[in-house]
Formats: sequence, C-alpha cells, structure tokens
Amino acid sequence: MVQQSENSAPRRIAILGSTGSIGDSTIDLIGRNPGAYDVVALTANGNWQKLAKQTKVLKPEFVALGDADKYQDLKQELAGTGIRVAAGEEGLCEAASLSSDWVMAAIVGAAGLKPTLEAVKRGVVVALANKECLVSAGTLFMDAVSDCGATLLPVDSEHNAIFQVFDFKQKNKIRRVILTASGGPFRTLSSEEMQNVTPAQAVAHPNWSMGAKISVDSATMMNKGLEVIEAHHLFGMVSEQIDILVHPQSVVHSLLEYDDGSVLAQLGTPDMRTPIAYTLGWPDRIETPSARLDLAALGSLLFEAPDPERFPALRLARSALQTGGAAPTILNAANEVAVARFLAGKAGFLDIAAIVEQTLGRMSLQPLTTLEEVMAVDAEARKIAADVKSLRAVAE
Ligand code: NAD
Ligand code: MG
Repeated sequence: MVQQSENSAPRRIAILGSTGSIGDSTIDLIGRNPGAYDVVALTANGNWQKLAKQTKVLKPEFVALGDADKYQDLKQELAGTGIRVAAGEEGLCEAASLSSDWVMAAIVGAAGLKPTLEAVKRGVVVALANKECLVSAGTLFMDAVSDCGATLLPVDSEHNAIFQVFDFKQKNKIRRVILTASGGPFRTLSSEEMQNVTPAQAVAHPNWSMGAKISVDSATMMNKGLEVIEAHHLFGMVSEQIDILVHPQSVVHSLLEYDDGSVLAQLGTPDMRTPIAYTLGWPDRIETPSARLDLAALGSLLFEAPDPERFPALRLARSALQTGGAAPTILNAANEVAVARFLAGKAGFLDIAAIVEQTLGRMSLQPLTTLEEVMAVDAEARKIAADVKSLRAVAE
C-alpha cells in the first residue's frame, strides 16, 4: 500500500503532538528526507509559538491547538499564510481527519484518544506513540483498527522492537514477550530514599530524552506497567505472557521467545529516531543519524529482575490488566492526574502510586463498551484522583 520509492509522490503526513519530544524527532527525520514527505497538519496544546515556527518551515494546510485560549495568538501569527487554524478537541480531530497517508499519534495522555481514533477511522497508517490510548480504551481502539482496516505501527521503542521480530504468520508459536525497562533514575533507590525526590530529579532520565509525563512514568515504572497493557492489546498476549526485564543500558529494546527456545530481540542505541524512522519508512527502511551500536565498547549488557515492592505501579498496572473493564481506564486517568500533581509540587513521588491505588479502590470496575463510557469513567477517575489527599500534604 504505502510503498516508497525514489519516484513515488511524497507521503502525506499529519503529526498530532508535533511540539513534543516525539514530534521534534519526527520533524528532524522529515527534514533529512527532503521531498519524501508532505506535511498536511500539525497540532500542539498551548505552545503556539513553537507550533507557529514549525508551521512556517513545514507549511502544512492546517494547524490546531488543544488549548483554545491560545487560538487568537496563533491565528494572528499565521495571518496571511493561507494556513487554516483551529483549536480545541474538534480542531485536533479535524487535523487527524484531513486526507493523509500517515499519522503520527504523539499527543500525551488520554487527550490523544479521540484525535487518534479519527485517524484510525480513515484506515490509514497510524504510527502510535500515545500508549495511553491503548491503556484507556484498548479493546475499543483495536476493534476500530481492524474494523477500519488501519495499519497500526508501534512507535514505543519496546513495542517497535517486538513488532520488528514478531512473526505474524506463526503467532501461536510465540510463547513470551519480554519488555525491557531501564529502571529509570531511581532504579537503585530504597522506598525511603524515593520519598523526597523532586520533579527535576524524576524527569532526568538516565538514557532517554522525553516529555515530562513519560519521564515521571519511567521513574515510578508506571511506564512499564502501561507498556504491559499496550503489549497485550497490540500483540494479543495475555498478562502471563508479558514479562518485564530491567536493563539499565536501554540497548536491547525488547525480546520475543518462540516455542523452540529461540529468543529474538531488536537492539540499538537509545534514540527514538530509530523506531520513528521504522514507522516513517515502513515497509521500507530509511536512514537515521542515530549513533551506531558498538557492543565491544559497551563490553557487557546488564539485566535484573524488576522489584514490584519498591515500584508498586508495576503491581497496580498488572492487576488492572487482569481485572479488565474500567480498571485500566481508571489506572491511566488517575496516573495522569497524580503525575501532574507531583510535577506541580502538590504531591510527593510516592503519592503517585498511592493516588492511583486509592482511585481504583473507590470506583466500580464494570466493563466498558462504548467510547462515551470510557470518557465518563476517565472523567470520574480524574475527579477522584484530584481529591485524594497526598501523604506529603498530610505530613506537612
Ligand atoms: P511531550 O510532552 O514532549 O509532547 C506531548 C505533545 O502533546 C506536545 O505536542 C503537546 O503540545 C501535546 N499535548 C499535550 N497535552 C495535550 C492536550 N491536552 N491536547 C492536545 N495536545 C496536547 O511528550 P512526548 O515525550 O513527545 O510523548 C508523547 C507520547 O509518546 C506519550 O504518550 C508518550 O508516552 C509516548 N512516548 C514517548 C517517548 C519519548 O521518547 N518521548 C517514547 C515512547 C512513547
Ligand atoms: Mg517505551
């Protein structure tokens, strides 16, 4: 379908969340392949200045801001360019629904769910960075992918790695997915030591440069919990088939074990441009400037078992997947609120998992069958999570 050859027309692409870390890396790759891509639409939340700069370079047809309060600023800045400007959820959905062949879904959080689904509905190639979509509404999302004939390409480095070694013709011969985890900046800290860590320490990831929310998720290891749920939906594996392996160097991006004992992995230096390029070029491969892997220089690869005692988010996510129904939706929404509270200095680091656990405990975990039900549960979980008292505030 979306073959790319030297003579083919540029691939028409939209980037949802273009001003973030994944958006930056995607735009970097586009700039290195002149003539291969024609950017149709870009979106951001509130950073209209950065969106305006990207717009002037990439000249899309349409741009949208999630934050409607910044609409006038952007509109004014782009006056006379002929580029259409919109805002709010409708604007984000319109960006996804315009004619394009390839959509990067890189909005952070459940805010990306509806716009990403708009792209899915068009049956095009969707490069999925936004794992929260799958955690919050995985079954509905995957049903939409298959009903609409969309091609979903995982951007998350672990899932991209698995996708690259997954033999879809012999799926029944795959025994186990092994998701690697860096362990984050607090991998070796005790729970006591984690009590007073600051947002600045939490976002300073040892290997990857990422947005604030996913960096905190890496520090709590909720990121790996969300990725277990993501792997379940993407690859049809049950919880017992999805293992986590701590690998502090982030070189082995994940592994797959087959029935015959073969273990296949994808390796590379930690640079998101490699998995993004895989999805941008798919089904071909394109070049990236990512540093090349030098295993001799590295000498050895380190692995260790995860510790759900110090990182309770792992336990909470696993249990939400096993419970099913509303549990993963609540887990995701409560986590988004808890992380935002932590980043704002209104909750401690250990409060994040505690807020998620208490929110799950206060809500009913019924099955969810429609997008409206998912949105309603998401909204209720956010309210409850905002009300849960932080341990730190209690101590103060
Ligand atoms: P980021 O915070 O750097 O960027 C997020 C983007 O989403 C920005 O363009 C922002 O303007 C937009 N956005 C945020 N809130 C919004 C809202 N309410 N409405 C509309 N737009 C909104 O985040 P990121 O690190 O680029 O991550 C994006 C997604 O990719 C996340 O789901 C993350 O889990 C996933 N991901 C990121 C990485 C990485 O290396 N950064 C790796 C794997 C997966
Ligand atoms: Mg990942």
